[in-house]
Amino acid sequence: MIEDADDEDEEAERAEALLAELERLAGRPCGRCGGAMCGHEHVLSVVMGFKGRPVCLGCLARALGRERAELRDDALEHIARRECFRQGWVHSSRQEGWGEALRPDCLWAATSVAAEAPAPAPPAAAPREVAAEWDAGDMSCGDLVLALRLRLADLAPGAVIRVRATDVAAPIDLPAWCRMTRHTLVHMTHPTYWIQKRRDD
Ligand SMILES: [Zn+2]
Ligand SMILES: [Zn+2]
Repeated sequence: MIEDADDEDEEAERAEALLAELERLAGRPCGRCGGAMCGHEHVLSVVMGFKGRPVCLGCLARALGRERAELRDDALEHIARRECFRQGWVHSSRQEGWGEALRPDCLWAATSVAAEAPAPAPPAAAPREVAAEWDAGDMSCGDLVLALRLRLADLAPGAVIRVRATDVAAPIDLPAWCRMTRHTLVHMTHPTYWIQKRRDD
């Protein structure tokens, strides 16, 4: 699916756009706690839907009710299999002196702070109705999840939005993003996705 030449070109363009975004973000502190952020956290921020307004890993985990290390590992799994994100990630490793590391010390150094496990989310009932519909067109990567995050912010907890997203990577990006952010992907038949906002948001 992502193998043919056109898609490869597209991936290269996306990687370039992400690297340009990282240049812009370089040195920017967290928009929530004001703490310093490294390049990897800037990539994470874009992946999680915070393009343009970076949020550090600790603040992301807190906002999502997830354990920091668990969110980090989950995000890396997604980043590693998406060429554009992976390139930005490795670029940050090189810039920060970690070589080609996928698990750089800046985020993987042994920290003794054991975060408490978040309370499990109540089971989501199957949605009967759709509260909102959104045609995302061919938006992709960081732009798609940023716009989706803002749409979800307007909905009541547990509400379902039906999204149409034609981007070729949407079948990879949207399930991964929902898993990381604890929203529920109720059903998908590309290009249509039913996403239920998490109940504790
Ligand atoms: Zn922060
Ligand atoms: Zn880093």
